[in-house]
Amino acid sequence: MPATHQVTNQVPPLTGYDVAADPALLEGLRREGAGWAEDELRELGRLAGGEQAQEWGRLAERYPPVLRTHDRYGHRIDEVDFHPYWHDLMRVAVEHGLHAAPWADGRPGAHVARAAQNLVWGQVEPGHICPISMTYAAVPALRVEPGLAAVYEPLLAAPVYDYGLRIPDTKRGLIAGMSMTEKQGGSDVRANTTRATPAGDGTYTITGHKWFTSAPMSDLFLTLAQAPGGLTCFLLPRVLPDGSRNAIHLQRLKDKLGNRSNASAEIEYDGARGWRVGDEGRGVRTIIRMVNLTRLDCVIGSAAGMRLGVTQAVHHASYRSAFGARLIEQPLMTNVLADLAVEAEAAVAVAMRLAGAVDRAVAGDEREDLFRRIGLAVSKYWVCKRAPGHAAEALECLGGNGYVEESGMPRLYREAPLMSIWEGSGNVSALDALRAMANQPESVEVFFAELDLAAGADARLNAAVARLHKELSDLEHVQFRARRVVESMALALQGSLLVRHGPAAVADAFCASRLDGDRGVAFGTLPAGTNTGAIVDRARPADARERA
Ligand SMILES: Cc1cc2nc3c(=O)[nH]c(=O)nc-3n(C[C@H](O)[C@H](O)[C@H](O)COP(=O)(O)OP(=O)(O)OC[C@H]3O[C@@H](n4cnc5c(N)ncnc54)[C@H](O)[C@@H]3O)c2cc1C
Repeated sequence: MPATHQVTNQVPPLTGYDVAADPALLEGLRREGAGWAEDELRELGRLAGGEQAQEWGRLAERYPPVLRTHDRYGHRIDEVDFHPYWHDLMRVAVEHGLHAAPWADGRPGAHVARAAQNLVWGQVEPGHICPISMTYAAVPALRVEPGLAAVYEPLLAAPVYDYGLRIPDTKRGLIAGMSMTEKQGGSDVRANTTRATPAGDGTYTITGHKWFTSAPMSDLFLTLAQAPGGLTCFLLPRVLPDGSRNAIHLQRLKDKLGNRSNASAEIEYDGARGWRVGDEGRGVRTIIRMVNLTRLDCVIGSAAGMRLGVTQAVHHASYRSAFGARLIEQPLMTNVLADLAVEAEAAVAVAMRLAGAVDRAVAGDEREDLFRRIGLAVSKYWVCKRAPGHAAEALECLGGNGYVEESGMPRLYREAPLMSIWEGSGNVSALDALRAMANQPESVEVFFAELDLAAGADARLNAAVARLHKELSDLEHVQFRARRVVESMALALQGSLLVRHGPAAVADAFCASRLDGDRGVAFGTLPAGTNTGAIVDRARPADARERA
């Protein structure tokens, strides 16, 4: 072999590590009441960090799903073929209960445990988390119609991935999708034109189109359509109780920027049969129960992406040298890595706090329900908004290698904007936070009570909270100012969590840069004197910590 083919200064693959060995995540898990789930989380973490799962994720994305509208004889079949590894990813997710399992688990902390697992397993491959998340989120909407919930909820919660086209209640486990967005609008679903006509037997005939319906191979879909009494939520099975196919035709699969392992379809309801969920005219109120939880998963998904980005960047910098020293020893690189790590830790902390609020709200805690409502709206806006810039910077830490598919960083980068688009794009999420405050003014008091738990601990946080009070006392041009207001709320919330629970170095860097304005616009602009060593060390993947 010629000498030019000697490989030096390349980084060993980051494999065989425990994705769950993340101090910020584990501390959040315990704090929010799911310490009992740690062993299973660590087991999933080792699987997620292993070569096999990494290969599942790589190939499931590399070979995206293919639509087969008709069979060889011209009959409609409306099937999607997935790479076999897609099914492995789904199977592990379902068997570990990342889908609707917490609804059948009475233990306090079940939703927190599931959030942590989602944060870990989502780092393997984010596309398949979409149907997993929709299955989780479908249950509260379905419960509006107890008769339907009695039949389907146990199957949605069952830890069995039973793929295939069969009558839903003959299967051992079910997956659910959500079908709202139409060509003329996704944010403004009240403009939906799909019609629902009573069929006379208690069911409805659904006719119309949906411009985005992800996971079209799901067993059940929750759909919005205009019934005689107004916009209404419906449940549509893909296979009807008599074994025939429901008239749901797949027109096209979207050719997407990222999220490529997952199929997102344009569909036509051609006289499909639907079962009403909730009263006519209450469609948005019903389906918002589902959207609230998919929004939680957007925050978790963004936190997972940031955590993965930091892990990869710190791992790379631990081994790669330039100008006579390892990158991790170069002062400017430590600034970039620490800044990325602070952002990821803030995202993980708030994601876990919100999962805890969901858990307690489900158990009947009304204040936690109010906190969930407002905290989720502000965090959906802010955490998801931070992800694309974070992914770009993490990718750049790997230099040109990060721009190459084999590094996995392009996949992370392509996925990053999605969490901010679906389930309420940035503006819509920011406006939703304003709506929460207007409709439930008590939620503002609950939000500030949460911030006050850290009162007096850091002068910069105190000042940020005082500014926030002032900002919210003046409602002039509040729609125009929505992003500023909501950003300030999200930062104050993250700051209060880090000051109370985070390590001093992370909390100090966050307060200095995000609350006190001692930073530039880009990542890597933390102030001099920041304890970057402690921050980066905490963010190191477990195996790199051992080898360093
Ligand atoms: C990969 C992918 C998968 C998807 N899967 C599904 C699915 O399974 N089911 C489903 O129902 N949908 C799905 N969607 C659709 C998604 O939820 C919508 O794209 C999203 O809600 C935005 O709707 P829209 O595309 O119609 O944009 P629009 O509603 O046209 O919004 C365009 C822009 O205008 C902004 N905007 C809207 N209203 C206001 C306002 N009042 N003030 C200021 N700004 C405003 C928005 O924030 C956005 O930036 C998916 C989308 C993608 C990309």
